[in-house]
Amino acid sequence: MLTKTDYDKLLKRIQDKISEKQTGTGERFELPSPDVMWEGQKTILRNFMDFSKKLRRDPEKVLQYLSKEFATPAERSGDKAMFVGRREPHDFVHLLNIYVKDYLECPTCKSPDTKIDRENRITFLICEACGAKSSLKGKYA
Ligand SMILES: [Zn+2]
Repeated sequence: MLTKTDYDKLLKRIQDKISEKQTGTGERFELPSPDVMWEGQKTILRNFMDFSKKLRRDPEKVLQYLSKEFATPAERSGDKAMFVGRREPHDFVHLLNIYVKDYLECPTCKSPDTKIDRENRITFLICEACGAKSSLKGKYA
């Protein structure tokens, strides 16, 4: 007898298998761990540039996104980003995972191997795995 939970787990496992197949690599997209330190009332994300490199997105846009979502001013200095207020590493993980969903994942095949293309002020997400082209509505692409 399968309980509902077992069934959900099974279903999830099958879906994971399918999406692994579709992305072709079988490798999960993993973001770096946030390297966070605090200075007084400021939070410094020391490996900010690792994120924007991994995301393959404009660091300014990623910073704007984090600043907006944290509702706090942010500033970049070299490879680091500084935020006013105290933020925990998991706050960054949480927001960046949403960013991946909203700005990286191909709506067709869920691959994060996508790039941004702009045509006549419309932003498109182009998938390098399946070739799908979809318009992006968010402004932090
Ligand atoms: Zn795709």
